[in-house]
Amino acid sequence: MLMRRPLLLFLAGICLVLGSSAVAYRLAFQSAQGDLQAIGRHRLDLYAASLEREIAKYAFLPGTLNLAGNVVALVSGPSTGGRRSGEVNVYLQHLNARAGTLSIYVMDSAGLVRAASNWDKPDSFVGENLAFRPYFAEALANNEGRFFGIGTTRGEPGYYLASAIYQGTREVGVAAVKVSLEQLEKSWATVEAPVMVSDEYGVVLLSTVPEWKFATLRQLDAQAQAKFERTQQFNHRALHKLGMQELHRYDAETVLVNMAPDHHTDATSYSRNGHFLSQSRKLPGTDWTFTVLSRLDTVERLAANEATIVGFAMASLLMVALIINERRRRVNERLAAREALQRAHDELERKVEERTADLTGTNLRLQAEVTERVRVERTLREAQDELVQTGKLAVIGQLSTGIAHELNQPLAALRTLSANAVRFLDRGDIETVQGNLVRIADLVDRMGTITGQLRNFARKSKGKLHAVALTTAIQNTCSLLANQLQQAGIEVRLRPELVAAQVWCDGNRLEQVLVNLLGNAADALQGQAVRRVDIWWECGTERVSLHLRDTGPGLSSEALQRMFEPFFTTKSVDRGLGLGLVISAGIVRDFGGTLQGFNHPQGGAEFVLELPLYKNHG
Ligand code: ADP
Repeated sequence: MLMRRPLLLFLAGICLVLGSSAVAYRLAFQSAQGDLQAIGRHRLDLYAASLEREIAKYAFLPGTLNLAGNVVALVSGPSTGGRRSGEVNVYLQHLNARAGTLSIYVMDSAGLVRAASNWDKPDSFVGENLAFRPYFAEALANNEGRFFGIGTTRGEPGYYLASAIYQGTREVGVAAVKVSLEQLEKSWATVEAPVMVSDEYGVVLLSTVPEWKFATLRQLDAQAQAKFERTQQFNHRALHKLGMQELHRYDAETVLVNMAPDHHTDATSYSRNGHFLSQSRKLPGTDWTFTVLSRLDTVERLAANEATIVGFAMASLLMVALIINERRRRVNERLAAREALQRAHDELERKVEERTADLTGTNLRLQAEVTERVRVERTLREAQDELVQTGKLAVIGQLSTGIAHELNQPLAALRTLSANAVRFLDRGDIETVQGNLVRIADLVDRMGTITGQLRNFARKSKGKLHAVALTTAIQNTCSLLANQLQQAGIEVRLRPELVAAQVWCDGNRLEQVLVNLLGNAADALQGQAVRRVDIWWECGTERVSLHLRDTGPGLSSEALQRMFEPFFTTKSVDRGLGLGLVISAGIVRDFGGTLQGFNHPQGGAEFVLELPLYKNHG
């Protein structure tokens, strides 16, 4: 599309140049042709008048011979005129010389030439019968006859003017004068405009172009040819057709013609072929047509020159318009480019400002977020540390209560027994002292057991796994919590049908897990009508599933979802930290097992510990 626009403009420009050239050509041609036509018309007037004048000059001459008595006597008398004919001959000879005509002669009523101006010349007409000449018959019939023809004796063309000779009222003969129109013809000759006179048959009688003379303008019909034969008008001369072709007729007298080059053409001073403006007019009182041919090549050249000038002018105008347009376009483009650049610059600046503002905002937000996050993390960490610490303290506190409770009783018993033993020793009651000492040893053993268990619980795991009997681990746990369980009225039931099972783990840490699970159950069973914890396990080939089910209210839906999250608890701060299940699950995971919790279909919470089975158990 972009490629096509300049092409279209170029074509339009060419069309404009050609169109304006064509219009200029046409206008110039019309104007010059108008001028040419006016000149032609003028010339036609001039030449036609001169021809009429020339003929009129001699028109009276044959009639005057009627006045000469010897002429009348000669033609009316017998053909053997004798002396009289000699007189008339001389008279005619002198008259001819004076008038400047070609010849003057008289014929009797039979057409026989009785006397002639050229009587003494070898081509004398005397004795010839010219009755066949039309002017003879015309003169006899109408008193006057006119004729253009070629002489039969000398073959000289001329204009014949004839008048009847009367004797009284009777026609006794005809007087004829032959006039040459050659001089006239020569006077018409101009370089630009050939002239011709043609008769009613289109035969050119007179012409400034010698080759056109006695040529025909149109095809002769048979009748005309027969007439020429009969009257010997052209003395049996061959009449060739002129190669004139009508191209355009402007009006009755003006025609555009083309003249074909004829083979008779010789090297004359002007060309006789090409386009001509032909202007014709009938000569009054004759059947002749006068034609002036004006050359059109100068007009065509002139028009072509003007068309070229206009074409060049138009092309130059277009070029100037194009250059101006191009300059304007460039200036506009430059302005548009500058504006676009300015716009882009403004836009860029705006965006930079926006971005800077955004970035500053974002930066500030990010900074604030980072600061906030750091603060929250620090707070969390602090809270976590604090909670861990608090958790530890709570466990210690819890354990201390249990330990104090467990040890206080035997200590009080020890105190009483030892005080009694001292008294009985004083009394000499050795037997009772012995009995007391045995009981003291039992109590110390028991206390040893408690502290042992405590040590077991407190002992940091070395991370070494070994075979642990489930029954032992459960019993140890129950012992640890015995006081608490007993106070809360909780029954821990181990199914009697269980086969002994050993799992591969760290016994202390397993007990830690069980303490936590049993502790949670004890908490859940508070205030419950039935307070029982069922413990059992199922052995698979590789693993053992250890179940702890309580008769408490079960896990809440929130606890079901979140109980393994650190610090999730539904208990008050002094009772729960929400770390128990997390730590427990972590410990079990260390053993390669899993810890799950759900609600039992018949109520209560149930926790299942999946632990690796120790196969070489005894
Ligand atoms: P804590 O005991 O300090 O709350 P845990 O991680 O041991 O932390 O337990 C998380 C929570 O799970 C408890 O607060 C309780 O809501 C729920 N839960 C645990 N065991 C039981 C259970 N046997 N019965 C009902 N709810 C329980």
